[in-house]
Amino acid sequence: MTSALSQLNFTDDPERILRERFGFEQFRGEQREIVEHLIAGRDALVLMPTGGGKSLCYQIPSLCRDGVGIVVSPLIALMQDQVEALRQLGVRAAALNSSLPPYEAAEVEHAMRTGDLDLVYVAPERLLTPGFLDLMDRCRIALIAIDEAHCVSQWGHDFRPEYRRLSLLSERYPDVPRVALTATADGPTQRDILEHLNLADGRLFVAGFDRPNIQYRVVAKNNPRKQLLTLLQAEHATHAGIVYCLSRNKVEETANWLCEQGLKAVPYHAGLDKGTRARNQDRFLKEDGVIVVATVAFGMGIDKPDVRFVAHLDLPKSLEAYYQETGRAGRDGLPANAWMAYGMQDVAKVRHMVESSEASDAQKRVERMKLDSLLGYCETTKCRRQVLLSYFGDNLAEPCGNCDTCLEPVTTFDGTEAAQMALSCAYRTGQMFGAAHLVDVLLGNDTDRVQRFRHDGLSTFGIGTALSAAEWRSVFRQLVALGLLTVDVEGHGSLRLGDDCRPVLRGERRIELRRDPVRQKAKKRAARGGAVLEDPNDEALFQALRAKRLELAQDQGVPPYVIFHDSTLVEIASTKPASLAAFAEISGVGEAKLDRYGEAFLAVVAAHREGDPDGDALAGGHTSTGSG
Ligand code: ADP
Ligand code: ZN
Repeated sequence: MTSALSQLNFTDDPERILRERFGFEQFRGEQREIVEHLIAGRDALVLMPTGGGKSLCYQIPSLCRDGVGIVVSPLIALMQDQVEALRQLGVRAAALNSSLPPYEAAEVEHAMRTGDLDLVYVAPERLLTPGFLDLMDRCRIALIAIDEAHCVSQWGHDFRPEYRRLSLLSERYPDVPRVALTATADGPTQRDILEHLNLADGRLFVAGFDRPNIQYRVVAKNNPRKQLLTLLQAEHATHAGIVYCLSRNKVEETANWLCEQGLKAVPYHAGLDKGTRARNQDRFLKEDGVIVVATVAFGMGIDKPDVRFVAHLDLPKSLEAYYQETGRAGRDGLPANAWMAYGMQDVAKVRHMVESSEASDAQKRVERMKLDSLLGYCETTKCRRQVLLSYFGDNLAEPCGNCDTCLEPVTTFDGTEAAQMALSCAYRTGQMFGAAHLVDVLLGNDTDRVQRFRHDGLSTFGIGTALSAAEWRSVFRQLVALGLLTVDVEGHGSLRLGDDCRPVLRGERRIELRRDPVRQKAKKRAARGGAVLEDPNDEALFQALRAKRLELAQDQGVPPYVIFHDSTLVEIASTKPASLAAFAEISGVGEAKLDRYGEAFLAVVAAHREGDPDGDALAGGHTSTGSG
């Protein structure tokens, strides 16, 4: 231990707080080092993937150091969740934001002054008010944590100008340790964070971005709704998840359609009134197995750990945005899917958005590069995780074995000739037609349009019969992704030659194309229909524990996962503790939760053991929750 730590008294021991408060056996990865570094009063930037355990890194030092920990957080939902989870652990935590009535805010501020709070979550705008800074001057501050620190960078995907002003904290409180945390920051974003938050002297902790429990898949779009439904029915029948769409309309339509298919789906986008949004988000958090269909307006600050899938029906804005969005799956470490359906129209739309934006040329150049990286990811024939991680400057030596290209390797073919045919077909038809018609011409189909424009007389008519229509569509999509064709969005998707196509037409550049898997095979995992545990008996117990958790959560009006995460329930279901002492050994069970919930869950286990799920075998009040 460092010398700074040896001065602390026993109750301030971080290990002990981890065990007794949080119920965890040991620190994970770099948590211990980060915690010790902050307790010793130094600054840091922490890059850690979603679900990596960033919160503990500032929560435990806040408890160990004198005074109150200030956590700057951009979203109210996030704060409320964290505060609720901390209170469940018996930690004195509160949030200060615009949703709080003035008298409650006054109470929180009073508690801060009197030293009755361990942690306060505050929005950046609030923190920067003279009133709050004045309050901070009069309190003892344990540390300052700046969460979602990528918001400081205009290269990040959630730029928030007020984050820039947080640099004043370093001047005003030079002796208070500051830590900035984020899950997504590429090189330029990291540099921005260090610069704009005055953290250049702090230590950088990079925990690696990998999320091994997430399975990445990208499928070629043909009938996206149907493809989505197949996925949900096969693998996520009872699971909570998020479906991202680009437009509000599509969000509404998709949510309605999923409901018609018998799934519990709710829409979420910025055009819905506040009440509806809050209600839908609440259902997602507090009920089991709700699917949110949303625009990217949804998700930041959503800390729900048991999101089992994130599906994209439209392309995200960049790989960073994609990683952030898919990172909302599987925070609890259990298997989760990141699935995307991707087609040529998506590429067209996103390219168009970049080109037609008001951004400066420099900004557009950056955005084009980002888009190319994203398309490269979609079209890759290599391990997707390797592509993703290398984008964030992280290297994975071996293919991951848990993405679609690893599980069903994609073959490539020399597509030079196909590319030449496709490009010259676009050229000879006057660069005014979309892929559907060009495919007809290449296949020699005798359609009305072919007749009308006399395209059956072209040299490219019928020369492409070696490939199927689906294969040609894939070729066109890849040519667009490579920038060899551009899509004119205003001209109804007509394809024009891109700037770089000459060397290909002249035979000077070889083109390697991927052969899309013909159809998605039913995955092996599907056989379990989404069950978490292999043993059906354990799975039944797990479901009974979930039901108990939901009941306890509803009594208190909190999300089920603040009581216990799925991973804790899984451990209970497989180890079947028979005593409070055994229950205390389970990861995620700290002292406060043992007191409040131990008996209730033990009763479920006991009832299950008797083979009597209703618990009648246990006479005499064993089913009391211990919470009231
Ligand atoms: P992040 O903010 O990095 O996305 P969280 O702080 O929400 O991640 O932590 C993710 C999950 O991991 C939470 O369920 C948390 O309780 C759990 N966790 C964090 N640290 C540990 C640990 N040392 N041992 C066991 N579980 C942990
Ligand atoms: Zn892989």
